[in-house]
Amino acid sequence: MNFSAVPDYHMHTPRCNHATGTMRDYVDVAIKRGLREIGISDHSPMPDNFDAEWRMQPDELEDYWQELDVAWHYGRERGLNVRRALEIDFRSDQPDYTQSLISRYPWDYIIGSIHYLGDWGFDNPDAQQEWEHWSLQDAWVAYFDAVAASAESGLFDIIAHPDLMKKYGYRQPDDARVKAAEIRMLTAVRDADCCLEISSAGLRKPAAEIYPRAAMIECAASMGISFAYGSDAHAPEDVAYAMQDCLTCLHRYGVHHVACFEQRQRTMMDFTR
Ligand SMILES: [Zn+2]
Ligand SMILES: [Zn+2]
Repeated sequence: MNFSAVPDYHMHTPRCNHATGTMRDYVDVAIKRGLREIGISDHSPMPDNFDAEWRMQPDELEDYWQELDVAWHYGRERGLNVRRALEIDFRSDQPDYTQSLISRYPWDYIIGSIHYLGDWGFDNPDAQQEWEHWSLQDAWVAYFDAVAASAESGLFDIIAHPDLMKKYGYRQPDDARVKAAEIRMLTAVRDADCCLEISSAGLRKPAAEIYPRAAMIECAASMGISFAYGSDAHAPEDVAYAMQDCLTCLHRYGVHHVACFEQRQRTMMDFTR
């Protein structure tokens, strides 16, 4: 398998206040690990400055873009494509805000994420007590419905870590209502022609499992949904983390291609050649 040709499309910078290393550090590690392409996709601002301490500030977007430009040139001189991207938390009540972020720059791709149910940042380590107010079933249904809405918005190229809800071990229950919500979500991803992210970040969290779990990969693959790989690196040493495990998992379910993006145009790359 040709691992080095697979891009890592999900990584952060200190602008989000919970990542370390400069863009140049991420580029250097990617080159050292033999990658030919990466994408930097830091957390965008949110409407009304929501949860501002976990993301760049609205007035930082221009600096972020300029820094991406420098990283693009730095990578290019060293044989690495650096794609310029953004990870946006989708709020179904504020699609115009998301659209305005997307319209401002010629991004290579846009990652859509769900880290909140209402105001609850369910993947925030300091907000885990909120589980007292939710049944596992209701939380998972609400989560899949929110992910489905993000895909249906048509704003995103990649739907990130599509079972993030399990991060702290609150795994998807074996429940007909949850399964139905999962299928609705995958159908929305397919119909919107989005890619699903296969993310190694779950392996570094209490879930200790790739996002999404194998059963979802199998189901998505059978529906013909495309995948993109992301490490969700918040430190340079996590670039390309467990890429081999992720690709082996895709291969097991008959997936031989991953998505590549430039200027929001997708091409599919055969990683088995
Ligand atoms: Zn983050
Ligand atoms: Zn991320």
